[in-house]
Amino acid sequence: MRDIIIIGSGPAGFTAAIYAARAELKPLLIASSVEIGGELMNTTEVENFPGFPEAVMGPDLMTKMQEQAEKFGTEIVYDDVVELDLDGPVKRVKLGNGGVEEARAIVYATGSAYRKLGLPEEATLSGHGLSWCATCDGFFFRQKTIAVVGGGDSAMEEATFLTRFADKVYVIHRRDSLKASKIMQQRAFDNEKIEFIWNAEIAAIHGTEAVSGVSLRDTVTGELRALDLDGLFVAIGNDPRTHLVHGKLELTAEGTIAVDGRSSRTSVPGVFAAGDVIDPHYRQAVTAAGSGTVAALDAEHYLAALDDAAGEPVQAAQLAAVAE
Ligand SMILES: Cc1cc2nc3c(=O)[nH]c(=O)nc-3n(C[C@H](O)[C@H](O)[C@H](O)COP(=O)(O)OP(=O)(O)OC[C@H]3O[C@@H](n4cnc5c(N)ncnc54)[C@H](O)[C@@H]3O)c2cc1C
Repeated sequence: MRDIIIIGSGPAGFTAAIYAARAELKPLLIASSVEIGGELMNTTEVENFPGFPEAVMGPDLMTKMQEQAEKFGTEIVYDDVVELDLDGPVKRVKLGNGGVEEARAIVYATGSAYRKLGLPEEATLSGHGLSWCATCDGFFFRQKTIAVVGGGDSAMEEATFLTRFADKVYVIHRRDSLKASKIMQQRAFDNEKIEFIWNAEIAAIHGTEAVSGVSLRDTVTGELRALDLDGLFVAIGNDPRTHLVHGKLELTAEGTIAVDGRSSRTSVPGVFAAGDVIDPHYRQAVTAAGSGTVAALDAEHYLAALDDAAGEPVQAAQLAAVAE
């Protein structure tokens, strides 16, 4: 049986692995079979991860994180977790290939998924004028014309934030009224740079190298029209990837995994959660990485306490490595 299994290969998972490996816990990281590296694999330049004044490409950053985790002894399995048994002191993780791994502690870092429009262009234009994150990418659209799709609070917040950079921000919404709170709506209505396009949905995104516009379909008449744009932000929701732990771990009202205060401790002893899967608000690579650190340290302390209770001395080398 292992000390620790980390589920997820985004910034949270790899950072947890770096800390756990340096604490000599020999972590096993389950990276998934298709989305190795997490959400940053879908983007181009990352300009807000500290340490890279010239920016870093998302996939390069994730490759470096993986190298760092492996350098200290993390073992990586390229498969999906399909089932979890979290009860009791031995946690069991079932993989897509049918194998079962066991550990005394689990770090659950499966991230969250931005809802997509369901258009084929999303795969090719992501990071090329198409974004799901104004905080991450707004800076690239200075003096540009862009659009935000959505009608909820996050769409209003993103549109208002983006007016700091863009000259013009359209808000495209498929109904004739918004779901957003009154205060967020009013803030957007009062902003001179924002123009609402009601009863419209995106039928296609134009552009080969980068977004150049969209085709809008009128949701009442079905009529199509073109709109020239330099960028498109999709803000129609975000779903924490929690399906494996429904009924096993407590969730928050927002659907994220509930943790105890600023810790990573979930409702089940020995199970720690980190990154976007616990975070309804910030969802940044650096906050996910920080959260991965918290989870590794919490798991380390939990394992040390188990060893203490069993009468074994806590490994001095482990604590020293964590403290460094
Ligand atoms: C297009 C885009 C651009 C972005 N740009 C920036 C940016 O510039 N700066 C910034 O700070 N943030 C950016 N973000 C946000 C950032 O990517 C996330 O906040 C961060 O990746 C979250 O890290 P995480 O480790 O929690 O989850 P993720 O990165 O989502 O990683 C979760 C991992 O868990 C794996 N997983 C899920 N389920 C299973 C399973 N059952 N079995 C095994 N593995 C599983 C997934 O495959 C994935 O590898 C961007 C996000 C997007 C979508």
